[in-house]
Amino acid sequence: MIDQHFDIVVIGGGIIGLATALHATRRFPHLRLLLVEKEDRVARHQSGHNSGVIHSGIYYKPGSLKAKLCAEGAKAMVEFCREHHIAYRICGKVIVATHEEELPRLQMLFERGQANGLHGLRILDPDQIRELEPHCRGLRGLHVPETGITDYAAVCEKYAELVAAQGGVVSTATKVKALVRHAGETAIETTRGAFAARYVINCAGLHSDRVSRLSGQEPEVAIIPFRGEYYDLIPARAYLAKSLIYPVPDPRLPFLGAHFTRRIHGGVDAGPNAVLAFKREGYRRTDFSMQDMAGMLAYPGFWRMAGKHWRAGAGEFYRSLNRRAFVRALQRLIPEVSGSDLVADGSGVRAQAIRPDGSLVDDFEFVRKDNLLHVCNVPSPAATASLAIGGAIAQMAEKEFGLEEQLPQRPR
Ligand SMILES: Cc1cc2nc3c(=O)[nH]c(=O)nc-3n(C[C@H](O)[C@H](O)[C@H](O)COP(=O)(O)OP(=O)(O)OC[C@H]3O[C@@H](n4cnc5c(N)ncnc54)[C@H](O)[C@@H]3O)c2cc1C
Repeated sequence: MIDQHFDIVVIGGGIIGLATALHATRRFPHLRLLLVEKEDRVARHQSGHNSGVIHSGIYYKPGSLKAKLCAEGAKAMVEFCREHHIAYRICGKVIVATHEEELPRLQMLFERGQANGLHGLRILDPDQIRELEPHCRGLRGLHVPETGITDYAAVCEKYAELVAAQGGVVSTATKVKALVRHAGETAIETTRGAFAARYVINCAGLHSDRVSRLSGQEPEVAIIPFRGEYYDLIPARAYLAKSLIYPVPDPRLPFLGAHFTRRIHGGVDAGPNAVLAFKREGYRRTDFSMQDMAGMLAYPGFWRMAGKHWRAGAGEFYRSLNRRAFVRALQRLIPEVSGSDLVADGSGVRAQAIRPDGSLVDDFEFVRKDNLLHVCNVPSPAATASLAIGGAIAQMAEKEFGLEEQLPQRPR
């Protein structure tokens, strides 16, 4: 028994589902839209457990979706925060090379940043690093003045409010349990009743591959969860980082390396690392899910990935279990930081898509099958880029689902 019919159902009340619903309700005001979220409020997973950085777009391959949507999205995010009085600050960041072999990679980032249209990039010598970050040491630095910080949970709350104001329905505590396709519609069985939709947009983050499977469509990638653990600098030592201090990332991995991040509501985070999680929403080291582990171990791509990256993975495990090793990684950037300066401060779990050949999907990826659109991979900087991603998804929906033909004729 269907309780209600909608034109579009968006699954997932993270920043991507919400931004998609925001654009869709604006673009197609005549269509009925429902967003369902399994938790009791929005932004309970990746979108509410992240570093809060408005990325500038320096890291991404020129021409990639990440580069394009991050540049567009960062501008839109700043504008959105300004318009809706959400705290943000463009504080800039410094990427620091601490070993000789990182120098060519730092130079490459500088060139990438220029190719991606960033302004004000500057290579720094050790004295110039100290001028910006008095406690940081390095051989060379790269100053990225356009990077900022905000509160993405607050951004999500505002997106949800605007979706509702534009006529969309946001239903929390509504978990999708089954998707049945028939006669051009999809029946969506949830913990709060059954709905029917002509089009479904899957933005289920850590569960996006499972939601694809619920619809009978075999996903082309599997989601593997990577936990990022944070420490907080104790207030008396928060002066050690004035803004954001990052290492030069390992180009083989999609993670940026443990860094120092000033928080928009005060304090400084150190982290996150990137440790394989034994549960998709496993925020503690001891969290374990038999279902998640069995799925991971049965996926051939997982073993191929492990074969390629076991050394980096083992290092992350070691630094997760051994606080002194984690501190040593941070001391490369700020030598005077010590274990007693840090207190454990929560974690986030990243949804990383892996292909059957074991490669980590690097770029944002979306796949349309019939009347479903699956958001398969939207890792960092997806929070920064959310407005641009939501706009791109709404545009894809318009084209792929033929929604433009269904627009009501405007009165002449
Ligand atoms: C540790 C960490 C640090 C990061 N730092 C940054 C940063 O500084 N800057 C940046 O730009 N990006 C950052 N990111 C990336 C960014 O946070 C994510 O890319 C983004 O939040 C992804 O949003 P999402 O909506 O796809 O996923 P999510 O926020 O995970 O939302 C998916 C939602 O779907 C819901 N859902 C799942 N299954 C179902 C179902 N069956 N029925 C109903 N609902 C369902 C979930 O409950 C969840 O709320 C970081 C991520 C992490 C984890």
